[in-house]
Amino acid sequence: MLSAEEHWQLRVKLQVAMRVLKEETCPECGYPIWLCHSSLDTVQWEVEWSTCYANAAVEEAKKLQENKRHLSSGETPHAVFDHELGDWPTRQAGLESM
Ligand SMILES: [Zn+2]
Repeated sequence: MLSAEEHWQLRVKLQVAMRVLKEETCPECGYPIWLCHSSLDTVQWEVEWSTCYANAAVEEAKKLQENKRHLSSGETPHAVFDHELGDWPTRQAGLESM
């Protein structure tokens, strides 16, 4: 159990860490800004394609929706995990399937 002082010190450290993380994360690509904005010759980039199947499901729903009805004001489709085939895979299984 943390004392009030230890809790306060930990909270300050976490706030500093979050601020640094936000400040150093590129809003465009999500990589550390010191890396993706670096002009060093040793920093090179490649493009890999990946599919977000959650967004794909939302895009498909939007296409189907366009033909049926207009969305209500404030209504936004979003992806929800379908548990019909089971629970979430482990992080490791998900990473290995990419
Ligand atoms: Zn970037």
